[in-house]
Amino acid sequence: MFFIFFELLSNMPELPEVEVVRSFLESRVIGKKILKVSTVNEKLRYKVPSNLNLSLKNLIITKILRRGKYLILFFRDSKLCLLIHLGMTGYFRLSDELVEKKHDHVIFFLTKKILIFNDIRKFGFIKIYCNNEIFLSSHLRNMGVEPLSKDFNLNYFNSFRKRAVDLKGLLMNQSFIAGLGNIYCSEILYDARLSPLRKINSLNNLEIRNIVKSTKKILKKAISFGGTTIKNFIVSEEKIGYFKNKLKVYSRDKKNCLRCLKGILIKKIRQNGRSTFFCEKCQK
Ligand SMILES: [Zn+2]
Repeated sequence: MFFIFFELLSNMPELPEVEVVRSFLESRVIGKKILKVSTVNEKLRYKVPSNLNLSLKNLIITKILRRGKYLILFFRDSKLCLLIHLGMTGYFRLSDELVEKKHDHVIFFLTKKILIFNDIRKFGFIKIYCNNEIFLSSHLRNMGVEPLSKDFNLNYFNSFRKRAVDLKGLLMNQSFIAGLGNIYCSEILYDARLSPLRKINSLNNLEIRNIVKSTKKILKKAISFGGTTIKNFIVSEEKIGYFKNKLKVYSRDKKNCLRCLKGILIKKIRQNGRSTFFCEKCQK
């Protein structure tokens, strides 16, 4: 049996992981018709719409977009679209036949395939919107710039320049930049050699250019390695989620800094209730 399975564990998926899911789905479900949608459990972060089956039945999936950590599915000749968030542990499984597992919540019966949404922590959700209202929805309307777009640049950063917040706090702020979380903020600032504690209003142009450059570099690299938090992602014989082995600072507290080497240890601190990992010596 041809079996495709992937699972998100331990950390909340961030932009690269959601992008990996997007491209996985794009290559396998575009052009497929939804024959039926069956809701096993409606109690996700928001109640699964009771009209899901009625609204989506017979629609053909034409496009899958990612905005920040959200996925949006569009359909042929339909005014509706589907907004999906994976929450903390949400994942999709694509299979030839229905083999139900614990925590399967929504099952999409497609032409010749079955797509299943599973979520242990039930923090993910699925909502229906009208195409012309989706980007005005409460989830997306205040979302900041996409880090991989050319709109994320020195000029954009400058409009936030006067803020007295620290660098980690700004990068985590979804209305400033979309899709970054704990893992990639630590990795980006390590790559840019900047301390997560630096105040935004103390940064010079060169430092901001470095943040922009490191952000794009780290995210692209993570996507090419299949993301970090996806521990068990098998597509036929292909396994991905390998960026975990490429992490240079995240979760490496009390270990030697890979740049400064012997004797200089990575430090773990709390910022806004979340862990930050950095090297005090080479991140100024
Ligand atoms: Zn160092």
